Amino acid sequence: MIRLLSVASELHPLIKTGGLADVAGALPLALSARGVGVRSLLPAYPQVLRAFPRLKAVHAYKDLFGGPARLLAVKHAGLDLLLLDSLHLFGAREGGPYADLAGHDWPDNWRRFAALSAAAADVAAGAVKGWQADIVHAHDWQAALTAAYVRHGRLPQTPVVVTVHNLAFQGRFEADIFPRLGLPAEAFSVEGVEYYGGVGYLKAGLQYADAITTVSPTYADEIRTASLGMGLDGLLRGRGDAVHGIVNGIDLAAWDPVTDPHLAANFSVRAPGARAGNRRAIEKRFGLKRNKGPIFAVISRLTWQKGIDLIVDAVDHIIANGASLVVLGSGDSAFEGALLAAAARHRGRIGVVTGYDEALAHLIQAGADAILIPSRFEPCGLTQLYGLRYGTIPVAARTGGLADTIIDANEASLAAGCATGILHATGSGDALKGAISRAIALYAAPGAWQQIRRAGMRADFGWGRSGARYVALYQDLMDRKAA
Ligand code: ADP
Repeated sequence: MIRLLSVASELHPLIKTGGLADVAGALPLALSARGVGVRSLLPAYPQVLRAFPRLKAVHAYKDLFGGPARLLAVKHAGLDLLLLDSLHLFGAREGGPYADLAGHDWPDNWRRFAALSAAAADVAAGAVKGWQADIVHAHDWQAALTAAYVRHGRLPQTPVVVTVHNLAFQGRFEADIFPRLGLPAEAFSVEGVEYYGGVGYLKAGLQYADAITTVSPTYADEIRTASLGMGLDGLLRGRGDAVHGIVNGIDLAAWDPVTDPHLAANFSVRAPGARAGNRRAIEKRFGLKRNKGPIFAVISRLTWQKGIDLIVDAVDHIIANGASLVVLGSGDSAFEGALLAAAARHRGRIGVVTGYDEALAHLIQAGADAILIPSRFEPCGLTQLYGLRYGTIPVAARTGGLADTIIDANEASLAAGCATGILHATGSGDALKGAISRAIALYAAPGAWQQIRRAGMRADFGWGRSGARYVALYQDLMDRKAA
């Protein structure tokens, strides 16, 4: 049995700020189903500790980056968790896992996530009695330094996979932190952690990893180009065939319209009519007047990456063409303000809820007609997958995982009955408005909308295929090490 250590800074359902948490929570289950023995390491944030009244300490540090720390073990919902518990690193703070309430990064993030990564390398090498890792899988910059600590640690041959969920978040710090990382002096080089004169955590991970994966084949190509490589495209091109694109699956149990407890009415692909109850629930929750046009939805971080400025710009077009809009999101306060102003201007046709609300996200996917995802780049994207499964048709930019998971409703795909959504050119307000018009026309055309919806709801977005690809990758790395 392969023993795998998965390391991530968030994990659904314990702590989540985005798609990373969904993957860190769901992939281990898919791997376990394929016979991989997975342990998942994450920080013991207060909300994580609160979920577990009883925890077993399995390792103690007298001093981990400036204070005591412990590793706590617990099994939960099919996951075998190791929690890095340390007051000075992950104790209660006014804010989120990475930033304060004003959105400023915690100044000691370099220390917090170096500690997580150093602890990961320790666990991989046997710090928890009776267990060692055959493979380490580190997610995103917060865990990427694990690759450096493994390579310079006690079992440097242990293969490390680093997965990029979003290349925009890189974990870059000043060079003066380097002496405090506990890495050998030679690690501060272009072949190591050095990045443009400072320290780059993700950069280090990409450099030291035995394999790099990202969350869709198209994004794997895009990050090797200057336009979406965010300064790391040269390094990534240099890694050759160590770079892989494996599309994310979704948790089919948590996102099942037949059983989802967050819905006003459960439904299935065979009886989608019950969706109407969810539509009514959304109308009520968002204060929409009943209207026969489609309801467009946005469930997103409100950021430039997600193209929220393009949505703000398209609002009047949506309303003028007889549709309505609901938005659930949080992020950039300028976008929040612009969306709230649009809702005030079009009372009864636009509703906005700011903040993070998992239950409402489920309800919207179950009752809206189309979900707008005009991202400027999108490594994989999960909201289109939830939309497809729940019958909310994605209208999305042709980029990254959106391009890989949605079949555009053009003449050929409509004739073949395989269209599942609408794709438009990336980063263009006119293209978005054109796509919205196409959606409204398809909604009005008898049968077309139902056909697209059905094809999407029938598609398979579970972890089966992708889980198998990760297992094959781990096996390949282990075989190469043994050779
Ligand atoms: P990213 O990770 O870049 O934010 P993804 O599409 O990969 O984007 O994942 C976003 C996840 O966060 C999805 O599970 C989505 O439902 C959820 N989400 C985003 N914003 C909100 C919100 N305001 N309330 C509830 N869920 C949200």
